[in-house]
Amino acid sequence: MSELISNRGECKDPQNMFAEYNQLYFGGRLPQYKVLLTIDHSRCERRKRRIYINPDGEDVSVILLHEMVHAAVGSGHGKKWLDEVRRLIELGAPLQEELQRYSTGIVATSKHLLDEFFDAGMDAPPDWTWPEIRRYLGYRSGITDKHGSARSRRLSRFLRRARSEFSRGRAFAHP
Ligand SMILES: [Zn+2]
Repeated sequence: MSELISNRGECKDPQNMFAEYNQLYFGGRLPQYKVLLTIDHSRCERRKRRIYINPDGEDVSVILLHEMVHAAVGSGHGKKWLDEVRRLIELGAPLQEELQRYSTGIVATSKHLLDEFFDAGMDAPPDWTWPEIRRYLGYRSGITDKHGSARSRRLSRFLRRARSEFSRGRAFAHP
């Protein structure tokens, strides 16, 4: 894949965008990260200081900023992450839709939902098992009842994909 990506008609190197956003929104305080393109999940690997971006039809600025917020405050989309997103929005970052998407607790599309399971695999404490993750994320997103059982056959098939994303996340975090 090319190092250069097209963003609103101009070619911007995501590595340069990182440097630019670090100055603009973080006062240059984020450590140096390597920014790479991927056809896999967009993600932030803090220990390796790497951010992976999957452009996949979405706005690269938004994806990069999303991952930079993880670089700043860690994993998960809880209060810390949301507060940091709000701070960036006040500085002019185009993150309103991200804030909307994650602050409602409803992850809109199955792609985003699969990302959540992948992230959980990467970030959840090692002793969390699949049934626990399934119950926690599944119930929160309406896929399962509160005991972790899928609400329909379609959702049960979806959970199989979710489980393999979770396992892949685990493999990234604990190779
Ligand atoms: Zn995220």
